[in-house]
Amino acid sequence: MQDLHFKTITELAALLESGELTSVQLMQAVIDRTAAVDEQVKAFLSYDADDALAQARASDERRAAGQALGPLDGIPVGIKDVLAVKDQSVRCASKMLENYVSPFDATCITKLRQAGAIIWGRLNMDEFAMGSSTENSAYQTTANPWNLETIPGGSSGGSAAAMAAGEAIATLGTDTGGSIRQPAALCGVVGMKPTYGLVSRYGLVAFASSLDQVGPFARTVEDAAIVLEAMLGKDLKDSTSIESLGETNYAAALKDKKGPWTLGVPQEFFGEGIDPEVKANIEQAVDWYRGQGCTIVDISLPHSDLAVPVYYIVATAEASSNLARFDGVRYSHRSEAAKDALTLFTKSRGEGFGDEVKRRIILGTYVLSSGYYDAYYKRAQKVRRLILGDFEKAFEQVDAILTPTSPTPAFKRGERTDDPLAMYLSDIYTISVNLAGLPAISVPSGFTESGLPIGLQVIGKAFGEAEMFAIAHAFEQGHDYYKTTPKL
Ligand code: GLN
Repeated sequence: MQDLHFKTITELAALLESGELTSVQLMQAVIDRTAAVDEQVKAFLSYDADDALAQARASDERRAAGQALGPLDGIPVGIKDVLAVKDQSVRCASKMLENYVSPFDATCITKLRQAGAIIWGRLNMDEFAMGSSTENSAYQTTANPWNLETIPGGSSGGSAAAMAAGEAIATLGTDTGGSIRQPAALCGVVGMKPTYGLVSRYGLVAFASSLDQVGPFARTVEDAAIVLEAMLGKDLKDSTSIESLGETNYAAALKDKKGPWTLGVPQEFFGEGIDPEVKANIEQAVDWYRGQGCTIVDISLPHSDLAVPVYYIVATAEASSNLARFDGVRYSHRSEAAKDALTLFTKSRGEGFGDEVKRRIILGTYVLSSGYYDAYYKRAQKVRRLILGDFEKAFEQVDAILTPTSPTPAFKRGERTDDPLAMYLSDIYTISVNLAGLPAISVPSGFTESGLPIGLQVIGKAFGEAEMFAIAHAFEQGHDYYKTTPKL
């Protein structure tokens, strides 16, 4: 069977079900593919082929005994290095956690195991999920499979690149300000961020707790829906998790919900800074929906220009607090040069963290300090509420909002590493969604002239995942961009 590694979960589930394919054969094909291409792509920090094959064998045995667990049984799912998997290293691509091995599974991992998925490898990322290009990893930089000179996006760049290169059938990432959707767009795959609270954060190493969410990368919208369905739900180990207030039978919703929809297009997202090819592409996508009978409404999200500054206050404040636990005393890197208690902290943190993480901790500590708390942190929280208000108002009128996912296609490696502000603007269209806690998905919407993927973002109402998936699925079915794969 050819190119198993580029098939979808639905296609593979049918082959497994009919007995034409075993999970061991599938896993072996993915291992072979990874061995062949990962030297160029560098999506994986590590993987354990024997462990993956043992999980595949267990799946085949379940199936032979008539106890298959559903569409994910026997499907390899790659994992971002920020999610805890029992007995595997969880380094968050940081030297700080170089020797850390997790004694437990994150809840999303437990749930994927319960659905029969094979937990496959550790995927590269920006250190502690801070970045937009995966160049902040302390271990290696990942290449974009569509053009190895360019970045895959970030911070879940390994998860996106592995999908584009056929090194996994689905992957997990995390999204605090765009880290699933932006790399998905740049690598030409589907990436989805759930409503805040839908997926438990237990076992996700915290960056900014009020923004972080776990979500899937997949080839198709339906595949993303299948993975999300397996992971959601209230978890007693995460008090911010919640049972969805909406419909959660997503795969069925794709078939039932056919539109036509009322879709909002925010004018603020098409102004300064957008690449002309991206702009034209998204306008075409909007026209396609119009052609399908959807009503397109010009909307305004007037506080959009404040999203990036608000995010870099809220996210850094939370990060400075969350990352205080890496002190050299407990499970993190401990400096050999420490002479006393104080230098144990300072030297361990100084050696363990990379530049971007230090920049965020310093900024976050500053905005929380007693003299500046009111001026920055408190004010940012107020503006955050206004940003949510903009969305609430828009959703009185529309079923979903269409925007570009990223203002530009993948940029050259090294191009923005010396310019943090330029890097921060990579997430200008995704960040407000996290601040408002809403669900959003990036779906491939075509290519630039030089062959780089572009992504369309569909933003849904809180707990409106079912409708959001259906809207994105309609576009995907009308275009089939996912069937084009990079030449590696
Ligand atoms: N690029 C953004 C940042 O650097 C978002 C990161 C993320 O979503 N984890 O913070």
